[in-house]
Amino acid sequence: MKLFKPLIIILLGPQGSGKGTQAKFLQKKLNLEYVGSGNLVRKRQRVNDFTGRKLLEVSAKRGEIIPTFLMSKLWAEKFEKLKQKPEFNGFVFDGSPRKLIEVVLVEEALDWYEWQKNVKIILISISQKESIWRLTRRRICKDCGRILPYIGEFRKLKKCDKCGGKLITRIDDTVEGVKERLKWYKTDVMPVINYYKKQGRLIKINGEQSIENVFKDILKAIK
Ligand SMILES: [Zn+2]
Repeated sequence: MKLFKPLIIILLGPQGSGKGTQAKFLQKKLNLEYVGSGNLVRKRQRVNDFTGRKLLEVSAKRGEIIPTFLMSKLWAEKFEKLKQKPEFNGFVFDGSPRKLIEVVLVEEALDWYEWQKNVKIILISISQKESIWRLTRRRICKDCGRILPYIGEFRKLKKCDKCGGKLITRIDDTVEGVKERLKWYKTDVMPVINYYKKQGRLIKINGEQSIENVFKDILKAIK
């Protein structure tokens, strides 16, 4: 029997907040698993069935949101696997829940898997202005698709740090395109944030500082 409570970190924040980078740091530092909805979807779309093919179509049209019933199924399958891990310390939940109905499902799932005792909800907060500024400057690797945020050391890279590929800016990373994507954040994700805030569970971290200081603040907050 395990005597400790696994740590579940729900990591929220607008695009450009550096959420993905912080998720990786947390994972490494605290020896946590990573659960990213994007990863789960990409894995599922490699299966050649109706849902796999449809997911491929849907994710090609950027900004379209995966239906909740499907998302919750993918989470459940992942959680089931994590539950079987002998050395399980917890996980970072990157970027979900993204709408109110998902909050309900995530809470139910955390209850079901008996992980509800040690859940930290962290919002990496940056202004809309900052978000637009970073997103219109971030780059993507032409070869492996890696996205390089416009923060910290990433700004100095001339080539992809993973495969050495050429770095380009994305066509839809224009001010207009970014504004469109942030609109979705306002309508869908903001209610989630307000819900946790009302419950007194939201930990807000200032995202407009160096990557290292954001990380330090998160660690302090979850102690
Ligand atoms: Zn690359």
